[in-house]
Amino acid sequence: PGAGKGTQAKKVAALYGGPHLSPGDMFRDHFRRGTELGVRAKAFMDRGELVPDEIVVAMIEQRIAARDCAQGFILDGFPRTVAQAEALDQMLGRAGLPEPLVVHVKLDASLILRRLTGRRVCKVGGEIYNIYDRPPKTPNRCDHDSGELVQRDDDREEVIKERLAAYEEHTQPVVAYYRRRGLVQDLDGSGAPEEVTRALFAVIDREEGRGGHL
Ligand code: AMP
Repeated sequence: PGAGKGTQAKKVAALYGGPHLSPGDMFRDHFRRGTELGVRAKAFMDRGELVPDEIVVAMIEQRIAARDCAQGFILDGFPRTVAQAEALDQMLGRAGLPEPLVVHVKLDASLILRRLTGRRVCKVGGEIYNIYDRPPKTPNRCDHDSGELVQRDDDREEVIKERLAAYEEHTQPVVAYYRRRGLVQDLDGSGAPEEVTRALFAVIDREEGRGGHL
């Protein structure tokens, strides 16, 4: 959480093509539309807990079956548990897709807190700001569409603690799961977003050259 994975995943999707699939964004969209799934997921999210595997896996599985995912896709925030990673292996196998390129964005705890507590999101277009590092030109207004900037409910400090604990317990083992298979590329996430993007594109270009994923 807070490493900049959403910001970076959108850049990858824009440059390399392929749909950007983020369970967090999908749940927030469901909640805005008032679906039962959205309401169920929000309860977990507001406590900083992970949404149960079967819910997340079913949602991703359904999305991946769409035609626009046939050539591959960018997953952002999935898999977050080893069970999800195993489910993804099965899905990729069934779809005839190769093993994924896994990018592990690394960041100090103090910077993670600064990113999460300072984050504000445009209600209209979803553009992301940071009141410390990337403030909007006019306070609380998006530079692009003047939409109101709001704080995510789960970006409050007490929820952040739970999200970091969930990361340690459930998601750290996913990194180990992929590392054993030699699929992980580590990326320093502490720089400015543009710097991280440059380094990320370099990793993708290098790995793409080797064949396999993408
Ligand atoms: P994110 O937008 O990636 O920061 O995710 C926000 C929240 O959505 C997380 O704290 C979880 O509650 C939930 N969530 C997102 N992705 C997953 C996932 N793969 N598994 C379980 N819960 C998830």
